[in-house]
Amino acid sequence: VFITFEGGEGAGKSTILERLTERLTAEGYPVLATREPGGIPIAESIREVILDTNNTMMDARTEALLYAAARRQHLVEKVIPALQAGKIVLCDRFVDSSLVYQGAARGIGIEEVFQINQFAIADQMPDLTLFFDILPENGLKRISKNSDREQNRLDLESLAFHQDVYRAYMALLEKFPNRIKRIDANFGILEVEEQAYNKIKEHL
Ligand code: C5P
Repeated sequence: VFITFEGGEGAGKSTILERLTERLTAEGYPVLATREPGGIPIAESIREVILDTNNTMMDARTEALLYAAARRQHLVEKVIPALQAGKIVLCDRFVDSSLVYQGAARGIGIEEVFQINQFAIADQMPDLTLFFDILPENGLKRISKNSDREQNRLDLESLAFHQDVYRAYMALLEKFPNRIKRIDANFGILEVEEQAYNKIKEHL
């Protein structure tokens, strides 16, 4: 079963992913927790090119193609073998992140980015996607208490950018109601974990 975690900054999805990995593993489920580029050397190298801060010249479509390329390598080397071995794969961000960040927020267009991702992932869409819903202004407040690295990123991406991201996630939620389930991330960590746990258990 392939389950992806999506949401904006400060929604808590990565913490919940870790906690659910421990919980499901303790219950005896075989779980693989991952995130792109997932320690896959080829995907890591591609990711370095994207994140190289000197690379201010990078065109938005180049960036989208590189994300799709890294995604494919991670999928083929890590995710698909785990799925074939019968594992539950919990993946922090996947194709929906590209649709909202590259497609909507960077302005390429969701349909265009979906097309190149379809090429990259073939038909390996997630079985279930959890969207951790918190308004950008509230998520950003949570994260501003965090590290310098995150602070730098927030300086680069304005509130308007994160609002575009949020609106795009909302549109995806409407478009794929069977695959994408909303988690209300405004609560404390235990409550949010419980919601996510229940959605996953319903699916298993
Ligand atoms: O650490 P986390 O997964 O929340 O952060 C990811 C950040 O990386 C996003 O806020 C965004 O700036 C960037 N990103 C992106 N396009 C993707 C995935 C991530 O721009 N496809």
